[in-house]
Amino acid sequence: MNVHHLKTDILILGAGGAGLFAALHALKANPDLDITIVSKGLLGKCGCTRMVQGGYNVALNPGDSIERHFMDTIEGGKWLPHQELAWTLVTKAIERVQELENEIGCFFDRNPDGTLHGKAFAGQTFDRTVHKGDLTGIEIINRLMEQVWARPIRRLEEHRAVALIPAKDGALSGVLLIDVRTGEFRFVAAQAVLLATGGGPTMYRYHTPSGDKSMDGLAMALRLGLPLRDMEMVQFHPTGLLAGPDTRMTGTVLEEGLRGSGGHLLNGAMHRFMGDYDPKLERATRDVVSRAIFAEMRAGRTTRNGGVYIKMSHLGPAKVAKEFKGMVDRCRDCGFDLAGGLVEVVPTAHYFMGGVVCEVDTATERFGLFVAGEDASGMHGANRLGGNGVANSTVFGGIAGDVMPRWIAANSGHRDPDTNVLDAELARAQLPFAQIQKPGDLNALREKLLDTMWDEVGVVRDRASIARGLAALDRIEAELLATGVADAPDADRRFNLTWHDWLNLRSLCEVSRVIALAALKRENSRGAHFRSDFPEPGDFATSTFTVARQGANGIEIGEQPVQFTHVKPGETLLRDALAAE
Ligand SMILES: Cc1cc2nc3c(=O)[nH]c(=O)nc-3n(C[C@H](O)[C@H](O)[C@H](O)COP(=O)(O)OP(=O)(O)OC[C@H]3O[C@@H](n4cnc5c(N)ncnc54)[C@H](O)[C@@H]3O)c2cc1C
Repeated sequence: MNVHHLKTDILILGAGGAGLFAALHALKANPDLDITIVSKGLLGKCGCTRMVQGGYNVALNPGDSIERHFMDTIEGGKWLPHQELAWTLVTKAIERVQELENEIGCFFDRNPDGTLHGKAFAGQTFDRTVHKGDLTGIEIINRLMEQVWARPIRRLEEHRAVALIPAKDGALSGVLLIDVRTGEFRFVAAQAVLLATGGGPTMYRYHTPSGDKSMDGLAMALRLGLPLRDMEMVQFHPTGLLAGPDTRMTGTVLEEGLRGSGGHLLNGAMHRFMGDYDPKLERATRDVVSRAIFAEMRAGRTTRNGGVYIKMSHLGPAKVAKEFKGMVDRCRDCGFDLAGGLVEVVPTAHYFMGGVVCEVDTATERFGLFVAGEDASGMHGANRLGGNGVANSTVFGGIAGDVMPRWIAANSGHRDPDTNVLDAELARAQLPFAQIQKPGDLNALREKLLDTMWDEVGVVRDRASIARGLAALDRIEAELLATGVADAPDADRRFNLTWHDWLNLRSLCEVSRVIALAALKRENSRGAHFRSDFPEPGDFATSTFTVARQGANGIEIGEQPVQFTHVKPGETLLRDALAAE
């Protein structure tokens, strides 16, 4: 097998908010460095940053404070966040939003006095979500894309990373890629690598992330032996569009601002049910609202397609049409009238709080490997606040871009790849071409995976359901490994999407197993993780987080205590902040 070789100084995997910010900052820090961005899709057109609707959390208003934003993040995360990471997120978000407007060229919506408008998002004590209408991500990613295009940054678009390749001494050497267009392999040697492929829990029946997301980054990190934190924490957004089984629009998200601005949720009997579950009603956090909807669904109080309704018309159809134009248009395309009528919704897997363990400067345990964005973990704990996702990717992407050039200055040089690992990974990626069996039905396998994760390891789990899920995952993966692609071994590899579906499924199966095992380990209910056999949250003061790692005999899940470096459960920074005034 012919493998093309390329050398670069900084290799960035992923072209979302994290990857693009990292590239721009790294070039600014040292314009002499050779920087390469790899993305599975086309630059600016792939990943979830483009899909950001609601907006970006930042404590800019004089009535708000970083302490308040921090406390909302910690309390929303049920005291599981890594407090140094969360503190960095809320403090650096201010600088990053100013950079987005003043250097990158974004325009966000403003108040009549010219200050940035902050919209209401659930689970927050201040309206701090800065936005561009309800299609904020398009503004952010388009402007970032233009800045990258204007600079000498190499782009390997439609290239898929398949393995992180170490050197013999264990440090990272580079990354093995497939050029999707030609089907050929490429090994890129790099002094420093940033993993920013953006998580994205697309292994659930209903999900929101972009189609290029299949958890490849975390699957690669797991195989390299890196520790993964909080893997049981899958965030379900309460209001995924439910447009029937025959459209991919089902599962796509209707943004948080709808509930934040006063939208009502009604069950199939037209009862506004949130009052039966939480005094904050529709403005409760995502986990609470998702579970309430799930409970209504299990009780059979559903709409025609098996979900519940969101109703906005009482706020005035004209106002709704103006403030939520993108959502109103999307619903109209699917035959629903969001401004004046009722729209069917269902909880949908939206965000992955779990990811690679990292330091505040984005360094990982592996020499030469950094991580940022949704592939990283610890910032959100058990629950990500709406608006903290794109803040996370842009804040830590920028930090990675600042840090990697300094790191290279202190640790310069490329390292030769361990050829045993490289050969094994080449063989692994080509497995479906080596099959002697007939090609199977990958779509049917994918459907089984979606149902398994939704039914057994979804919004509500227990020991028995997780055990069923793990057994089903074994069967699905065994079937996948026995399935080849059509015309193997001589199949045309150019744009061979069956091959890529196969690889997607393998990554999803591997990460699904870690989610299930971490969910089994956590015998309490926190934020996004709800065990019906252990419904209590447990003692916050002795909180632990899960850490998963590939061991010699399979995946091992450990627990480590949360360090309360800024604030302890039962305390608040807000009183201190007030006292200091
Ligand atoms: C519909 C939707 C709405 C959202 N709304 C909000 C919101 O209002 N506010 C908020 O804060 N957050 C929101 N989020 C979350 C937010 O979009 C993400 O947390 C954030 O954008 C992730 O940024 P990222 O850079 O880590 O990843 P992404 O932006 O997803 O980029 C990942 C990149 O990695 C590439 N990639 C993936 N796999 C590979 C591979 N194997 N090889 C090479 N490249 C690869 C992809 O092609 C892509 O370029 C929303 C998410 C969705 C899905």
